[in-house]
Amino acid sequence: MKYALLAATALIAASPAFAQPQPAPLPYPPAVAEPKDVPYPGTITLRVDITDLARHIATVHETVPVAKPGDFVLLYPQWVPGDHGPTGPLTELASLVIKAGGQQIPWIRDVVNMNAFHVTVPQGATALDISFQYLSPPSTEGFREREEITPDMADIAWNTVSLYPAGAFTRDITIVPTMILPKGWHYATALETDRAADGEVTFKPTSYNTLVDSPIYSGKYSARIDLAPGAKTPVHLNIFADRPEDLAITPDQLAKHRTLVQQAVKLFGAQHYNHYDFLFALSDQLGGIGLEHHRSSEDGVGRNYFTDWDGTYGYRDLLPHEYTHSWNGKFRRPADLWAPSFNVPERDSLLWVYEGQTEFWGQVLATRSGLWSHTQALEAIAMDAAEMQADVGRQWRPLQDTTNDPIINERRPLAWRSWERAEDYYIEGLLIWLDADSLIREKTHGAKSMNDFAHAFFGMDDGSFVTLPYQFDDVVKALNGVLPYDWAGFLRTRLDRTGGSAPLDGIARGGYQLVYTEEENAYQKSAEAERHVKSFTWSVGLVIGGEGSIKDVEWNGPAFRAGLVIGGKIIAINGLAYQDASDMVAAIKLAKTSKAPIEVLVQDDRHFRTVQIDYHGGLRYPHLQRVQDKPALLDELLAPLK
Ligand SMILES: [Zn+2]
Repeated sequence: MKYALLAATALIAASPAFAQPQPAPLPYPPAVAEPKDVPYPGTITLRVDITDLARHIATVHETVPVAKPGDFVLLYPQWVPGDHGPTGPLTELASLVIKAGGQQIPWIRDVVNMNAFHVTVPQGATALDISFQYLSPPSTEGFREREEITPDMADIAWNTVSLYPAGAFTRDITIVPTMILPKGWHYATALETDRAADGEVTFKPTSYNTLVDSPIYSGKYSARIDLAPGAKTPVHLNIFADRPEDLAITPDQLAKHRTLVQQAVKLFGAQHYNHYDFLFALSDQLGGIGLEHHRSSEDGVGRNYFTDWDGTYGYRDLLPHEYTHSWNGKFRRPADLWAPSFNVPERDSLLWVYEGQTEFWGQVLATRSGLWSHTQALEAIAMDAAEMQADVGRQWRPLQDTTNDPIINERRPLAWRSWERAEDYYIEGLLIWLDADSLIREKTHGAKSMNDFAHAFFGMDDGSFVTLPYQFDDVVKALNGVLPYDWAGFLRTRLDRTGGSAPLDGIARGGYQLVYTEEENAYQKSAEAERHVKSFTWSVGLVIGGEGSIKDVEWNGPAFRAGLVIGGKIIAINGLAYQDASDMVAAIKLAKTSKAPIEVLVQDDRHFRTVQIDYHGGLRYPHLQRVQDKPALLDELLAPLK
């Protein structure tokens, strides 16, 4: 109400009888210097202590050399690569103290750029001594950030525990990082160790850019597994687990992870790292993650990855996805996404390549490596297709516009996900690349495929990890190199149109069709067990979580028409107290042979309502069904490379 009152006052003040208000001058230079591609003078030293496990607090000490007196700006990274949005955890930075020559000097936050801190460097000072705390969230629940430090392990991204000077490209800033770990902990990172003793690890000098791209996993229980024995370029799986017994990997599981590396290297034809480290947390406490880096990836799933192999296949394309990013996203990067520092905005227009094609190769490599069986892959692709079919927001929002979602929404919950579309460029991107693959196979009679695109687009400069940016026209050119075709038209039609249905031509041309049956999709079952939800998206149009909580309502579906909304709670179905999702299964089955609607007693805050879901179509779950008279081009795509 206060704001409305102020606005009314402003309207009166703006009438011609009064002078127009002018912005007040700032009490200090407002501008944060544009970064320049020149070496930053001197070397920064950084010490991060993460031993306060009980309170999840990291303590940071940093020395930043300064060349001259006057205004100086320190930045806390805002645009975190891989998040595609301004997600740097600024709220977690606390107790900032800056000194020069032993004397504390005041800092003042820029009132426009909240991640910038101004200080005045005194005459004669050669360095700033900076200390602050990073208040890592004590739990994933209720916090914007995930839990990163547990009593047994930690995942520390260096951008959260460092400041850097404005004015230089981050690749031009040299830094020597040190981390102090709890006693007896092991660690893994793409950084190279200079010395390690008594829990204190100092790494070799590196650029600030590489530092932020090289997070560090540490923990009590770990295993380091060679995924490329005998290869000239090493690849390791560094596992950190809640319990030592979760580390056990069977020979069959090991073989499949090794095949992943072989198949990826065969596919892309070059490697853009001198060594690659999967940082892999198996934990029920550390927040889950999948975040790509050039020479490593942060991967985090539940404890049971190895121990419940059949039950956890839903997230077994995580490692293939993040590994693919070393080529697609890190080495080849959209030109508008590349930024000289972590405080220059990224632009996300080509995420349907960066993420969409990574999702495509991630699922293909999961299958080629044997991490997924062929049947499991078909179930996953059926889910992809059906999820996109259900996203009716395509009526108003083109796929291209969804690439802005990491900036618009930063993955907060949405009231009407299927109507708003969220980050559809991942899965619909995958469907478009399936479409492209089968088109190339059909038109070249099997001689060419997206494998050839991967080789041409990602397979140059073997051994180099200098990012090579690209634009839309470069993608079109590389596709034309594989098969001359109107690729610009093909892509723009699928990216810019509104209305119609999800792009399922790749499935049809691939020799399959999307069907719905009463049998639950196996991929869905596995993925939902992990997330503790049950989806009835394709029947009553509802996703139900624990204790009857309504997690999603399909736009314009039967539950929507009955007036259900996200956030409500199912109390009873057909007059019986709700116990679990099997009650909804039973009610849908019953309604199929009856004219009576499904009666749901629902609670929204303190209000109870009874609604009638008039749905009689039975259970519906997506699957891919083989169309016998068409060649199975999809099977050819999923088969391992020889
Ligand atoms: Zn990704």
